[in-house]
Amino acid sequence: MKRAHIFNAGPGILPVPVLEETKDAVLDYMGLGLSIMEMSHRSKEYDTVIKEAQADCLKIMGLSPADYTVLFLGGGASLQFHMVPVNFLKNKASYINTGTWATNAIKEAKFVGETIVVASSEDSKFNFIPKGFKVDQDSDYFHYTTNNTIYGTEWKNVPEVGNVPLVADMSSDLFSRELPFDRFSLIYGGAQKNIGPAGVTMVVIKKEFLEKANTHVATMLKYKTHADKDSLYNTPPCLPIYVVHRVFKWILNQGGIPAVQAVNEKKAGLIYNTIDGSDGFYRGAVANKEDRSLMNITFNLLTPELEAKFIDEAKKLNMIGLKGHRSVGGVRASTYNACPVESCEALAKFMEEFRKANK
Ligand code: PMP
Repeated sequence: MKRAHIFNAGPGILPVPVLEETKDAVLDYMGLGLSIMEMSHRSKEYDTVIKEAQADCLKIMGLSPADYTVLFLGGGASLQFHMVPVNFLKNKASYINTGTWATNAIKEAKFVGETIVVASSEDSKFNFIPKGFKVDQDSDYFHYTTNNTIYGTEWKNVPEVGNVPLVADMSSDLFSRELPFDRFSLIYGGAQKNIGPAGVTMVVIKKEFLEKANTHVATMLKYKTHADKDSLYNTPPCLPIYVVHRVFKWILNQGGIPAVQAVNEKKAGLIYNTIDGSDGFYRGAVANKEDRSLMNITFNLLTPELEAKFIDEAKKLNMIGLKGHRSVGGVRASTYNACPVESCEALAKFMEEFRKANK
């Protein structure tokens, strides 16, 4: 199979063994004579898929099923921007603005109730992660985006917010590095970057927090509806959940998050070292050095024309998805969990060659 070096920001790269398992399951699931897509979501075979995915998710995070519940929902991470406040905002909620997705989350919370932006990096085009802010202790929750996909910035530490419940959008760095997951009350993420295909969103909620949710909420938007029915209140995105189930097995087979993180650090190191050793030919204009992301590596070249040439020549070498987000331009290499070290080696090598040929 000819495989490109895939640096797409999302939907992003998936592990080849998972693609192969999915191909088989799409044609004939476990020799049952029907596709995983043709199966009842209430069959015992599918029940095993969803239950194992939920159990493996908690296993990967080191969380207990007695304390946390895992939901697989539709609507993308963008629906969570609304579901979080509609379920948990009673008096006021605190948010940090670190980019487009955080901005969108804030916008949706404002429809629901008082929303305080405790810090923002908007004035400097979101090129850093705010530090040293205070969160009102009477906030219903504190929301932040752990990794900013567009700008390539990432929170290195979980913010200290006292006793305020922590809520995080982890769409673009889910399971890429170790985090004290037990400090969070709610974690959500669209699957399409690190854990599966588009179409399913993972939500992990602390049961104690869920008990405090607002009750006057439309049925489909209420987390409790889905929690009470184990994500089978209505027909779930069956195929995407199957793929997520296989990705979780793949993560566990790699040795869990610590092993995946070690590989991610190696990959990002290859590219950041090339940027830093390029005498300013590649410049990390989009993200401050100390806040650089392990997953979305953003950089600029001297002119937009040179950037276009870089992206074009890379494409000829089978490297795809390197164009920066349309709102910021530049170059972005997304090195999600399934991206192999060889792809990052190939990119680093190409960056060196391109620099020598164009300086
Ligand atoms: N949050 C982050 C951090 C993202 O990167 C994205 C998508 N790129 C979203 C939210 C929106 O996700 P979705 O398209 O699943 O609604």
